[in-house]
Amino acid sequence: MKRRDFCGMSAAAGAVAFLPIERLAAAAGDSSPATDLRAVKLSGQETTIERAAVMDFRASLRGTLLAPRDADYEAARHVWNGMIDKHPALIARCADTADVVRAVTFARERELLLAVRGGGHSFPGLSTCNGGLVIDLSPMRSVVVDAAGRSARAAGGAWGADVDAATQQHALATTLGEISNTGIAGLTLGGGFGWLSRRFGLACDNLISVELVTADGKVRRVSAQDEPELFWAIRGGGGNFGVATSFEYRLHALNPTVLGGHVDFPSAQLKDAIGFYAELVGHAPRELGVDLSLAPNEDGRPGAQIYVVYSGDARSGGKVLEPLQRFGKPIRNTIRPQNYVVVQKWSDTAPIDPTHWFIKGGFVRDYPAGLTDLLADGFGQEGDTGMYFQSANGAVADVAQTATAFPHRDAIANMMLFGVWKDPSRDEPGRKSVHAVWSKLEPFTSGYYVNLHDADASGRDRGTERNYGPNFSRLAAVKKQYDPLNLFRLNANIRPA
Ligand SMILES: Cc1cc2nc3c(=O)[nH]c(=O)nc-3n(C[C@H](O)[C@H](O)[C@H](O)COP(=O)(O)OP(=O)(O)OC[C@H]3O[C@@H](n4cnc5c(N)ncnc54)[C@H](O)[C@@H]3O)c2cc1C
Repeated sequence: MKRRDFCGMSAAAGAVAFLPIERLAAAAGDSSPATDLRAVKLSGQETTIERAAVMDFRASLRGTLLAPRDADYEAARHVWNGMIDKHPALIARCADTADVVRAVTFARERELLLAVRGGGHSFPGLSTCNGGLVIDLSPMRSVVVDAAGRSARAAGGAWGADVDAATQQHALATTLGEISNTGIAGLTLGGGFGWLSRRFGLACDNLISVELVTADGKVRRVSAQDEPELFWAIRGGGGNFGVATSFEYRLHALNPTVLGGHVDFPSAQLKDAIGFYAELVGHAPRELGVDLSLAPNEDGRPGAQIYVVYSGDARSGGKVLEPLQRFGKPIRNTIRPQNYVVVQKWSDTAPIDPTHWFIKGGFVRDYPAGLTDLLADGFGQEGDTGMYFQSANGAVADVAQTATAFPHRDAIANMMLFGVWKDPSRDEPGRKSVHAVWSKLEPFTSGYYVNLHDADASGRDRGTERNYGPNFSRLAAVKKQYDPLNLFRLNANIRPA
């Protein structure tokens, strides 16, 4: 199915899946489907799922199967980004790996459009769909830590918060994202940047093994020893190869108290602050996570906020941060010893956020004068847009470009432009203005983070092949071997070779 077909069918598919008769039955409190369900196939064609098949599928699960008439369906269909408003035909809330196997088999046998949901934080809403089946792993959030062996196994629906809470009890941690309610699944399979990635590499670089349910319904242990080709592909290849039901991570010693905060600079020091950040991220020791936010300060004028998290010993941290503590005339400085688990929640929004978000992003290899001059004028902080530079260097670059599927090992930062609004009538003009601003920034990027892939929202293919560079043909071959039907297509899709 072409991406434009998928976009075009959205409204219609949503309507067919939510028939009035289903609403009436729901009001009557009857949880069995009153009729056959209308759904959408991988090809984009409409299909019917017989009532009896839905009943059998439901009975086979330890978790729950939600159809549009079920009381919990409405809450369950929403994902993090308030702009995404889709109506799946069925949502399988899986309780265990066996449920996932049944759900994958159900989708494959009927060639149903399939979405897989971990934490639901995909910006363009790739973990849900109109008219298809959603495999929802949100009930699967357990984490087991082997402190002596310095590893943790987390279920496929876990959030960063679940893993951080469990590992920090033993003063251990692994790299995860900077928002605690983001799913580990989508994040890790696409790469996984966070405050610790300059020190310990990407989340995917810390994988020991993954339990993966592939399109044929097989449960596979995937590691360097078992299914090594798949292990190579899932470290950066996103959700293209199956449903990850658990992740085993390597853990590192991490003192629960880190030195962190942000220093905010006014409009008058925008250019200097950007220059200072660029120098710092290029030369700081790996224990320092450092990001740059460009967003208006309280006075409404463009501002720069340098965020830091130093995870090494406190005395060295004081020294490393001294130049920042002395730099310029900031309007705020919040740097202090803080609990790492609290730091991981600094920027949390609600797990289901009513705010509408649209994002563009790309990797920068350096900060040429052309880019900093543009940003120094407050560019990117116009209307409802803001920018964020997440550092992407340090230990991330220790891994060779072709050693895992994740190819962007020579970047210095992931440059992101956000559009944020609440009013749905802003969706179209908001997207347009983000695109217009991004068109000036994009020339400074090379490649993009697959976890920010936005083909669904923009309708444009962002060049997955070019983005994976030397890794693409190998990825396409692995895809052909394990998912020839392209069942797992709602992602930065790699078509089977
Ligand atoms: C507020 C916010 C902050 C973020 N911060 C960071 C950050 O600090 N660092 C960073 O690297 N990224 C960050 N991201 C991007 C993030 O990595 C992606 O949005 C990621 O996809 C989220 O994972 P999820 O499981 O919540 O996503 P979902 O929306 O559930 O899924 C995203 C994709 O992964 C697939 N997928 C999900 N679960 C599974 C599974 N179990 N098996 C196979 N495929 C699966 C889905 O099919 C879909 O294609 C952030 C995103 C948001 C919205």
